[in-house]
Amino acid sequence: MRIGYGWDSHEFKAGIPLVIGGVKLPHGKGLAGHSDGDVLLHAITDALLGAVAAGDIGSYFPPNDPEWKGANSAVFLGEALKQIAKAGYEISNVDSTLILESPKIGPHAGEIQKSVARLLGIPCNAVGIKAKTPEGMGTDDAAIAHVAVLLVKKSGTRMAHRTKRTSKSKSRRRG
Ligand code: MG
Repeated sequence: MRIGYGWDSHEFKAGIPLVIGGVKLPHGKGLAGHSDGDVLLHAITDALLGAVAAGDIGSYFPPNDPEWKGANSAVFLGEALKQIAKAGYEISNVDSTLILESPKIGPHAGEIQKSVARLLGIPCNAVGIKAKTPEGMGTDDAAIAHVAVLLVKKSGTRMAHRTKRTSKSKSRRRG
């Protein structure tokens, strides 16, 4: 088993779309960033990479690289999924907390949960989406995301070993 933790923050900016967990939310301001500013997907990406000690989001997608300008953050998540698969792990569950003054996340939490579950290829009941307002933190102009993930060894891994052993014993028999 592996545990991973990720954190991210982005500043609100007027006139750009607000995307959280791959869902466009109706709001007058969006999250500024080099990519689409999806604070939740960035934190999940870092949590996944951290769980297999495979660096962080910036080591794969440098923020000064023009290729990632306005990028859909699902691309970043896809790279992290590739890295955990390469390390022989799959996701058990993901838990997250969003901290933002507005908009209220509650009415959209179900849609965000569904979107994140689809992007990660795991069931909805393995994705926790929680939200709080930044009481006394003075971060009303930002959205913050904290994410914890638990990875387990890929179920196919043991099967692969067994297949290998079987073919070895077969060739031994043949020889
Ligand atoms: Mg970010």
